[in-house]
Amino acid sequence: MKIDYTLHTHTVGFDGRNSAEDMVRVACARGFKTIGFSNHFIVHPDISKSPMYKYALRGGYANIYSDDIECSICRFGEHFAAVRALRRKYPDMNILCGMEMDWFQYPEWGQAMGNAVARLRPDYIIGAMHFIDRGMDGVLNVHDIKNAPAVESRRLLREYYQNLMRLAEFDWRGCSFRFNWMAHFDLPRKVGLHFPEMEAGALDAIARNSVPIELNTALIKNKNYVAPGKDDETLKQIAEYKIPTLLSDDAHDVARIGADFDTVASAASATGMKLCTATDMLAKMFGVRAR
Ligand SMILES: [Zn+2]
Ligand SMILES: [Zn+2]
Repeated sequence: MKIDYTLHTHTVGFDGRNSAEDMVRVACARGFKTIGFSNHFIVHPDISKSPMYKYALRGGYANIYSDDIECSICRFGEHFAAVRALRRKYPDMNILCGMEMDWFQYPEWGQAMGNAVARLRPDYIIGAMHFIDRGMDGVLNVHDIKNAPAVESRRLLREYYQNLMRLAEFDWRGCSFRFNWMAHFDLPRKVGLHFPEMEAGALDAIARNSVPIELNTALIKNKNYVAPGKDDETLKQIAEYKIPTLLSDDAHDVARIGADFDTVASAASATGMKLCTATDMLAKMFGVRAR
């Protein structure tokens, strides 16, 4: 099956390296029919107190970590307007405005995000968990988990997967919006952290709660990732549970658009997995069972 969509992408102004228009042009040249932009929407009142924040400043990524929802809405408003303007210029491409939104457990989160979604009207939202929430001390990311002393690192990793399960079980009734699917459930693998039992437990919660997921090919270069042919157990579990799945490249530049799609798609189909089409996936939401 040829994947004709790329829905998890990032652009310049956030933490991507190319403009939306460059991304559209390359996606079009590579035969994609649909491209969606899903820049990071990460809002936490104390994010600037996080250990990783000084590295973010140094790396020029401060603009994706926000403690001010109005600022984030404003930045996304301008970005969405620019993306929507591309639709007229590239009528043959299906160009979508998405968000990769981080889930947090601070009490005002649902309300604040609901307000942002109502005003920005994204075409879809990818739910992500890049952090462990430390309240007034900000957040810890996967690098912080990796760099902690061994016992502490293990404990934090466990906490990461427990939160992932909580996200899968999240009660959306008080929210005016939902996530469409979950980004990279295997994110800790990016830094070489893997806790197989906990990851399998998270997939279990994902399946029980009908949470659609993505297979993120950006992690495939990592030796610890579910390398097709090496350890297909995870892919098999996803196939067995019939978890709705799409492929994503998590492209932060034009070079990554559609990268490794063929390899991962064939590994996935070898396990009996049926990958979703873009239309399938965009119609999905957390906690809503397919009929
Ligand atoms: Zn990113
Ligand atoms: Zn991500």
